[in-house]
Amino acid sequence: MATVTSDNLIDGRALAEEVHQETRETIARLLAQGLQPGLAFIRVGEDPASRVYVGMKEKACARLGIKSRTEVLPETVEQRDLLRRISELNADPTIHGILVQAPLPCHIDSAAVFNTLSPRKDVDGFHPVNMGRLLLGDPGGFVPCTPAGVQQLLLRSGVPVAGAEVVVLGRGNIVGKPLAALLLQKATGADATVTLCHSRSRNLAGHCRRADILIAAMGSPRFVTASMVKPGAVVVDVGVNRVEDASAPGGSRLVGDVDFEGVQPIAGKITPNPGGVGPMTIAMLLSNTARAAALSAGL
Ligand code: NAP
Repeated sequence: MATVTSDNLIDGRALAEEVHQETRETIARLLAQGLQPGLAFIRVGEDPASRVYVGMKEKACARLGIKSRTEVLPETVEQRDLLRRISELNADPTIHGILVQAPLPCHIDSAAVFNTLSPRKDVDGFHPVNMGRLLLGDPGGFVPCTPAGVQQLLLRSGVPVAGAEVVVLGRGNIVGKPLAALLLQKATGADATVTLCHSRSRNLAGHCRRADILIAAMGSPRFVTASMVKPGAVVVDVGVNRVEDASAPGGSRLVGDVDFEGVQPIAGKITPNPGGVGPMTIAMLLSNTARAAALSAGL
């Protein structure tokens, strides 16, 4: 069994800084040509987590020189008004990326929202055209930010993905499904043998124990325990779950899908949570935005 040490931590913040540095260089080239990348956020309602996420992304934009603006629409907004606003942003030449923050109120059809976004401004990668390009292995599209961030995290920490047994827990449209599609492509940072598990999977723990790389994206607090992990496996924790904790300020705190304390001692490498996938998600959003701006100008 591997020794208990923090040497096996994958530092998502440091790796995100590497991506940011590359994005800064792209932005500097664009600014030299008189083009400042612009990113519009649309937030519907006052969901506290959405406010925090959009706030973090706005700050990251400001640090890198991306001009961002946030439009807050009331929880009761009519779907047609939201779609009209997206169409206006599609036509705005100063805006190169549009992000509609999830979750949306129940009366809004998310598919209609993603369909309305211009695929060229869909820096979150959820438009069917971008999802289709991902599945087809067409590098011309935008890859959803969290899956792209996980792939970069593995690549930049020297984890061999080609030929590896990768088990992804969770088949959500935002993380699990696009991540599985990304890692099975015939491409650098991919070429894995991917198993995608969900709530109907039989013998989930057995699948997990086969994994060279185990990625948890379920939204199920501390679900992955040490007995489910092959010693030496790389473990990536995407989950964000708020759990009650009387000793924490406000009576609750965020935990991942992995029982970090139990799993870290046997993992080959593991992402902390927070400080793993989250910063990479933001880094990929800004990278996609700079690329969208460059593409808009044919650069
Ligand atoms: P989602 O759409 O709700 O999908 C969750 C998936 O997990 C579903 O496929 C579900 O199975 C599966 N699942 C849930 N509990 C399970 C269990 N006990 N056993 C087996 N499978 C189970 O979620 P998502 O949007 O993909 O997000 C997943 C997690 O990632 C959430 O915690 C979210 O907050 C987090 N997240 C983090 C970031 C980041 O930047 N760090 C970004 C996005 C999302 P079924 O399909 O069978 O129901």
